[in-house]
Amino acid sequence: MNENSDFENTIDFDFRDSGVEDLESPWEGAVIYKRNPSISHLEYCTTLERLGFEELSTDVSKSRASTMGLRVTRAVKDYPSGTPVQISIDVTRKKRRLRLDGVIKTVLSLSCNRCGGPAAECVFSNFTLLLDEEPIEEPDVIDMGVIFGEDKSKTSVLNEEDDGDDILIDLDDRLYFPAEDREIDISKNIRDLVHIEITINAICDAKCKGGCKAEKLSSWRSEKSNATKINVIVGDSH
Ligand SMILES: [Zn+2]
Repeated sequence: MNENSDFENTIDFDFRDSGVEDLESPWEGAVIYKRNPSISHLEYCTTLERLGFEELSTDVSKSRASTMGLRVTRAVKDYPSGTPVQISIDVTRKKRRLRLDGVIKTVLSLSCNRCGGPAAECVFSNFTLLLDEEPIEEPDVIDMGVIFGEDKSKTSVLNEEDDGDDILIDLDDRLYFPAEDREIDISKNIRDLVHIEITINAICDAKCKGGCKAEKLSSWRSEKSNATKINVIVGDSH
């Protein structure tokens, strides 16, 4: 996709030793991990707009995000009133790699599967990225024996450093981060994580019956009887 070439154009910028506090990106919107041995926890703030999900950002997502306590920080100068995306990352240092365990929190404004109105979909996604000093190779040596640690002689690609769950990390979540590089753009991974949260099954309200407003009003009035009906349906399905 085009976005990748955009990233490449901007990755080669004049890196300043900008210090710990400076979480500003080299270009507006990029989520950049900067190598820093003294930091084991990071908080990023961006917006849906910055990640290219402008169409999912409405008053519905913004107000829900606000009630969840998500705020756009002042560092986000280009979209001060966008829908906030909060990314928290714990960094684990290994011999030749870094493991980033993170959580993304945001709210998407999707369209309700029943009535077509706006539906706030809360996103709370865990993710793991492995930043490896070695180029990422297709692990053609993987077989079930390696996965279960039965045959150490075959673990030439996934060496003994692959302790614990690291071996289960998807190839797409392994990024080549050469030791001499100071920073790495993880925007694409963040964007992909938000993207998979876009569902056609969103509903504006658990009570939404779809159809026109008049129908909704009458269904709200007979809320009690509806609740009874739902119970009956649930009861039937079990
Ligand atoms: Zn609805």
